[in-house]
Amino acid sequence: MNKQFPYPIWNAEMETMDLETRKTLQLYRLKELVWYVYDNVPFYKKKFDEMGVKPSEIKSLDDILSLPFTLKTDLRDNYPYAMFAVPMDDIIRIHASSGTTGKPTVVGYTQEDIDTWSEVMARSLMSGGTTRKSIVQNAYGYGLFTGGLGVHYGTELIGASVIPVSGGNTARQILLLQDFGSDVMTCTPSYSLFLAEEIEKAGIDASSLKLRYGIFGAEPWTEAMRGEIQKRLPIKAINIYGLSEIIGPGVANECQCQNGLHIYDDHFFPEIINPETGEHVKDGEMGELVITTLTKKGIPLIRYRTRDLTRILPGVCPCGRTHPRIDRIMGRSDDMLIIRGVNVFPSQIEEVLVKIEEVAPHYQLIVEREHNLDVLTVMVEVNDKIFSDEIKGLEAIEKKVEHDIHQMIGISVVVKLVEPRAVARSEGKAKRVIDNRKLQ
Ligand code: ADP
Ligand code: ZN
Repeated sequence: MNKQFPYPIWNAEMETMDLETRKTLQLYRLKELVWYVYDNVPFYKKKFDEMGVKPSEIKSLDDILSLPFTLKTDLRDNYPYAMFAVPMDDIIRIHASSGTTGKPTVVGYTQEDIDTWSEVMARSLMSGGTTRKSIVQNAYGYGLFTGGLGVHYGTELIGASVIPVSGGNTARQILLLQDFGSDVMTCTPSYSLFLAEEIEKAGIDASSLKLRYGIFGAEPWTEAMRGEIQKRLPIKAINIYGLSEIIGPGVANECQCQNGLHIYDDHFFPEIINPETGEHVKDGEMGELVITTLTKKGIPLIRYRTRDLTRILPGVCPCGRTHPRIDRIMGRSDDMLIIRGVNVFPSQIEEVLVKIEEVAPHYQLIVEREHNLDVLTVMVEVNDKIFSDEIKGLEAIEKKVEHDIHQMIGISVVVKLVEPRAVARSEGKAKRVIDNRKLQ
């Protein structure tokens, strides 16, 4: 804690470091990193050699432009461990993102990585209002998903109390909020609104709770949603961003100014590119966030394409932190949907549908928010033959499709069969997704 600044800062030395000093540190780390991956990850050695890049040629931060991008498919192609830079003896934790095309993306952490993650989570939690005295009700899922344990370790590092309640079981969440006096809540923004609704339904006055701050992330949300959460709970709602490939939550986090997320670029070096051309956009312009993990040991990544769209905000933040700020994530440059925190690609659903004889592969995905939870409806045409038979057994087909999709993506969806040719055809790219959640 540092009295010089209006709000407590976890690591004032790093978080308020002058920009030139930080650049020197970044360059030093970048040089080490390129040697490290060249020597320890065959995937990168091959890529560098193919492109004719030598680690010794990295002499300035701008030289990062000569390095290759890393894609999510590279991680999948090297499933599960081939991108790791250390032997399994040195890996002490394995996490995985919630799966895209069946197989999850696997990440491994050394002790040093867990320490880095705890450090950036401590920064995030403190900039979101957590202090040593706080009681943090952690309603992110514990498990392969990085949310739960990320918050857990960061809270412990600060010395606050963590309640490892994990996700779901709303009645218990409310009981703990009432009886344990939690002042900080961590979960997805949509779950916080669902919780607000249940608190109201139970006839509890939310302002009678001790809750003061919510640190919400893992899915896109808007200023309008923030307004609603802050009014209904009533708390200060803070945005936290991260992804398992980079470390988990804690890559960037808002401070009390609630005006952009400080990205911890002593560890995660950001670039914003045009997703089509791969070139840097002009300062302050929207583009795809690309991150290089400057200090990661288990699975270091060079220029990882997050697919998340944002921009670097100009100016200096009044909180005193010098880490640059990114804008809230405005969307994705691919067609990935995040449904109740799970990544879903329309292509996965298509893969299921083409295998089912009774339906034609004409479909549309409709996403809604009902009671603040995402509902994904799959509208799919039955084929002509089924349609001309007496329309019986349709329900059985719906159940079968629901079951198969659940097997594939791990979440439940609603399937509605429609007549042949009922799904609108398009001349160009089919409009597969109608997202009515109004997130942007
Ligand atoms: P999961 O296991 O849920 O898939 P991931 O680490 O793969 O976890 O999820 C990371 C993705 O979640 C990010 O790339 C981004 O698209 C989304 N995300 C995380 N935090 C935020 C946030 N604060 N705002 C918007 N999107 C977010
Ligand atoms: Zn700030």
